[in-house]
Amino acid sequence: MRVLVINCGSSSIKYQVIDPASGERFAAGTLERLGEERSHEEALGALVGELSEHAIEAVGHRVVHGGARFVDAVRIDGEVLAAIEACVPLAPLHNPANLAGIRAAQAAYPDLPHIAVFDTAMHARLPRRARTYAIDQELATAHSIRRFGFHGSSHGFVAQKAAETLGTSLRELRVITLHLGNGASACALEFGTSVETSMGMTPLEGLVMGTRSGDLDAGVVLRLARELGIDETEHLLNKKSGLAGISGLGNDLREIQRAAAEGHDGARLAINVFAHRARKYIGAYAAVMGGLDAIVLTGGIGENSAPMRRRILQRLEFLGVRIDEDKNQDASVSDDDPVFDISSSTARVKTFVVATNEELQIAKETAKVAGGDTEVSQKKPIPIAISARHVHLDRAAMDALFGEGSELTHYKDLSQPGQFASNERVNLIGPRGKIERVRILGPLRPACQIEVSRTDEFRLGVDAPIRRSGKVRGSAPITLEGPNGTIHLEEGLICAWRHIHMTTKDAEDYGVKDGDMVEVSVSGRGRDLTFGDVLVRVKDSYRLEMHIDTDEANAAELSRGATGALTYTDVEGDGAVIQQRRA
Ligand code: AMP
Repeated sequence: MRVLVINCGSSSIKYQVIDPASGERFAAGTLERLGEERSHEEALGALVGELSEHAIEAVGHRVVHGGARFVDAVRIDGEVLAAIEACVPLAPLHNPANLAGIRAAQAAYPDLPHIAVFDTAMHARLPRRARTYAIDQELATAHSIRRFGFHGSSHGFVAQKAAETLGTSLRELRVITLHLGNGASACALEFGTSVETSMGMTPLEGLVMGTRSGDLDAGVVLRLARELGIDETEHLLNKKSGLAGISGLGNDLREIQRAAAEGHDGARLAINVFAHRARKYIGAYAAVMGGLDAIVLTGGIGENSAPMRRRILQRLEFLGVRIDEDKNQDASVSDDDPVFDISSSTARVKTFVVATNEELQIAKETAKVAGGDTEVSQKKPIPIAISARHVHLDRAAMDALFGEGSELTHYKDLSQPGQFASNERVNLIGPRGKIERVRILGPLRPACQIEVSRTDEFRLGVDAPIRRSGKVRGSAPITLEGPNGTIHLEEGLICAWRHIHMTTKDAEDYGVKDGDMVEVSVSGRGRDLTFGDVLVRVKDSYRLEMHIDTDEANAAELSRGATGALTYTDVEGDGAVIQQRRA
């Protein structure tokens, strides 16, 4: 397959024709001076002829900002175009140019699938604790003030290369990627999900960059704005800060390194601040993930500056990071040979220099979506089933309550294959009260399990533990009353742990494993809610469905037919859960 990758700026269009499988590049170039001499449409229209020999099958568009809406690459249609347009206030310089490129390319290639690949998408599942600024949340929501993160195609590409080099899956690894170019950002990829990244609502936050300041006390911004005005401050922080601002030289690290070697104080300070900030983020991200398996450096500086790599990576032995300085000096990477291992043989954490290739990453994601095999699986909504209180019986309890040898009779099928609601019912009796006619679900199980809501517990006067299904040992006692007798169970009453049933394929698509804890967001009628601590249960006989009880459904004003969206994978469950996911 050949993919045309388009990266459209306000006055130029960069393009490449790439085979996403092999990485082979068949054509590349830049169409310049757009707007002045010719329109985007004219320029791309002329390019179609030049590229006609390449049998292009899909067009991949780099789009800088996908807002909260786009968590994956997506096929572009009218609705998607409108949604990208709606993100213009978030990226006023970039998204309009990206849109112009899309429209021109659609006119030039009306019959090909056009796919949008977003810089922000990779970070779309940042945990709320990582994406939230500590300001008034109503204001934050009203103005879309939250951390988004950028450089997603680069972080994704180099992390994947590191995983391939280690012979494992990203889902098994905790990786810190440092994209150090003129723009710079760090990303913490925990088991394949970006859980922290240094750029925020805009690309101005985080690391020291060529001309951007990165992290600042917000008080500095206020002070500067008072002194210089808003526009001048914006210009200063974006165009005249960072390496250029500190050194008083340009933004080219090569020049700064030369000046530093000659004793230039500003150049030395710029290098020190740049390295210190990057090292600080490595420590922070290792702490965020509770461990670290690999560090990847990329971008013009990460790929080429051995002295800067050494400065950043020094004194990290306590984390298991140890560099072989000879390898660091020798490191050289290219599109053809993109990975260089600079770790010493005793390092517990591997450190790689990787040549980033954002165009290839865009081509790969374009091919996946155009091929239809991943039409944004993570976006697939999760149907929600609301479980009313119910009872599972074992053989002995069935005999005692309904008579020796009696069987459950079929009332209706449940969504999980083989499960059914029966016509039989029992009364639940607790110390404080009684709940009548609670339905029994079939088939019979090896042990009795009675699932009630917290509200039911108050009625009954019992305190049942929150448990996953099957874990009834040490749970609460309850008395069951049937037509043929009454039995008292010393244990068996639980409040069910909210969970999602899914198949292995679903789990792969969502990037989760059996035993993972995830967050699921639901939109109710004015009672939007994000459920944390949702247990993932994987079995091929399951059907995709999240199970919550009536209290949980009411809290979110949910009714039959509701769906939720998996927002991110958590690893802060108890130790057992973490071990399960590392197993
Ligand atoms: P990028 O934005 O990824 O193209 O990276 C540009 C940055 O990489 C500039 O600051 C360059 O000075 C820097 N860079 C490129 N090659 C070298 C090198 N050999 N040594 C130091 N910095 C380099």
